[in-house]
Amino acid sequence: MKALATLLPFAWKYRFYLMGGLFFVFISNYFNVLTPQLTSFIIDHVQRTLQLPGYVPNSSTPAYDGLVLQLSTTILKYGNSLPGVVALCGITLLVLALLRGFFLFLMRQTIIVMSRHIEYEQKNQIYSHYQSLDISFLKQNRVGDLMNRIAEDVARVRLFTGPAIMYIANLIAVISLCVYFMFSRDSLLALYVLAPLPALAILIYFINNIINQRSERIQEVLSDLTAHAQESYAGIRVIKSFSQERSLINFYQSLVGLYRKEVLGLVKVEALYFPSITLLIGISTLLTIMIGGLYYINGNSDIGVHTIVEFVMYINMLTFPVSAIGLTASMVQRAAASQKRINEFMQVKPTIITKEPASKILLKGDLIFKNVNFTYPETGIHALKQINIHIKQGERVLVMGKTGSGKSTLLQLILRYYNTELGGIFIGDTNIANTDLLNYRNQIGYVPQDSFLFSDTIAANISFGQEGVMQQAIEWAANAAAIDTEITQFPAGYQTLVGERGVTLSGGQKQRISLARALVKKPMLLLLDDCLSAVDSSTEQKIATHFTTHLKGVTQILVSHRVHAHLDFDRVIILENGEIIEMGSPTTLLSLGGVYQKMAQLQRQ
Ligand code: ADP
Ligand code: MG
Repeated sequence: MKALATLLPFAWKYRFYLMGGLFFVFISNYFNVLTPQLTSFIIDHVQRTLQLPGYVPNSSTPAYDGLVLQLSTTILKYGNSLPGVVALCGITLLVLALLRGFFLFLMRQTIIVMSRHIEYEQKNQIYSHYQSLDISFLKQNRVGDLMNRIAEDVARVRLFTGPAIMYIANLIAVISLCVYFMFSRDSLLALYVLAPLPALAILIYFINNIINQRSERIQEVLSDLTAHAQESYAGIRVIKSFSQERSLINFYQSLVGLYRKEVLGLVKVEALYFPSITLLIGISTLLTIMIGGLYYINGNSDIGVHTIVEFVMYINMLTFPVSAIGLTASMVQRAAASQKRINEFMQVKPTIITKEPASKILLKGDLIFKNVNFTYPETGIHALKQINIHIKQGERVLVMGKTGSGKSTLLQLILRYYNTELGGIFIGDTNIANTDLLNYRNQIGYVPQDSFLFSDTIAANISFGQEGVMQQAIEWAANAAAIDTEITQFPAGYQTLVGERGVTLSGGQKQRISLARALVKKPMLLLLDDCLSAVDSSTEQKIATHFTTHLKGVTQILVSHRVHAHLDFDRVIILENGEIIEMGSPTTLLSLGGVYQKMAQLQRQ
């Protein structure tokens, strides 16, 4: 429950909506509660005028609300005859209903609108928080979990800030108004009639708890079910090649079977819900008629037919709000749990940030690793050990090594995805940890190992993150990455959609679009993580030519498994288990007779 206190600033920000909404709840209920009284008045009036048998007049005027008293006097004054009074009374009842409806409309227009505004702000808050968080945090959490906060949890909180607040306010207004008028008419009858209601509320609360628990279980089974279906769809090629369709169908069937069992259990409880509510309300109504009738027969109070009708109408008015108690309570509980999850997440602070005073440097100067060590915090894998490298500005460097030797980690540390321990990485004299993060990363062109394209056009993918890139620049980059001829062969050219709803590109095409995206930035530092692995030799030659003519002065680090005969490297670094085992110019390493020489030889064969 405490978690919901985080919403207080929103309540303050939207206080006018909130106060207005609460006022409208009260006023609409006020008009509603006048209806039984006016009905009571007219029944009494008809009985008296027609002198119906058994009618005993009230000893005093019933304690109607002031407005009802005024209305009834006016109706009597202008109604003339009995039919006239009845007709006027009918019209008044209609007007009351319309007024009530109007204020109900205003109530939704304020409270529900407020909840939508809060939802909008929460979604934006959470999304921008995502963007600020460290890569390592985002990797430690499941995507589904992160998605749920922004979708499901926000939606649940909205059910609190909107409907739940409305129901609670409504409940309080109805109960206080009805109870007040019932007691002011006849307190003993009121006590009898209201007696079953607390029992009703408690019963509903318990049934609702059971329904909630079962719903949660069903939700879990359902998410298993969806995850399984999703994965088997994604892995359909593997499944078919291993002829595993049948066993997967069986597995799915058993999951669906479990789902059906849980759902049928819920259906049973839900089937009990409404009958029990109806039963208890029926008992209340019965009590009203029975006890009121006995009073009437004994003639020891002012209770007449009109009083009994009035009480039955109050009971009916109480029905919905009281039966919504369970629902409202579970809305509040769920919202509290969801808000708690959101809060936990919002309290996580990014550690990779621009530390003031930060320097906006131009990435000119040598790239220097000084005693860099790095351990992945989540797994404890010591991925880089005592790395010392001095790369001169404009050098082209090849990093090789077995998978898992730390090549990608090296590039990610340059990108400041993680903080290094002990030593540091420097550009010229500046430790990159002290640079302005956005300014720093903006000058780096990075092609990740798994080239990722957004579901957008090719042009948008290439110009991603750059403002006002000219078509010319996009085509230049595509040409540099040796992908331009293939793009122009698509019917829509650069406007071709890629990703889920667009064309399917080959691995090599994706890699080169990714490369074009890095080149269009005109970076000072180019980091390529194995981005030529699916590129054939003649294409590689084209790219190499471009690199040599256009990337003068740009430090380039290429991670690869191949020696790349077309590219002249100033330096080769061989990593093994996070350590540098060979480093030097290609010619030096060839004469050394180590790992590099063996790889070059193997490749030549
Ligand atoms: P390479 O790119 O040379 O194949 P990596 O730099 O990706 O190697 O990985 C180096 C080591 O760090 C490996 O043992 C790998 O399992 C581990 N590693 C890589 N990425 C992560 C990560 N995000 N979290 C934990 N461990 C990681
Ligand atoms: Mg790698």
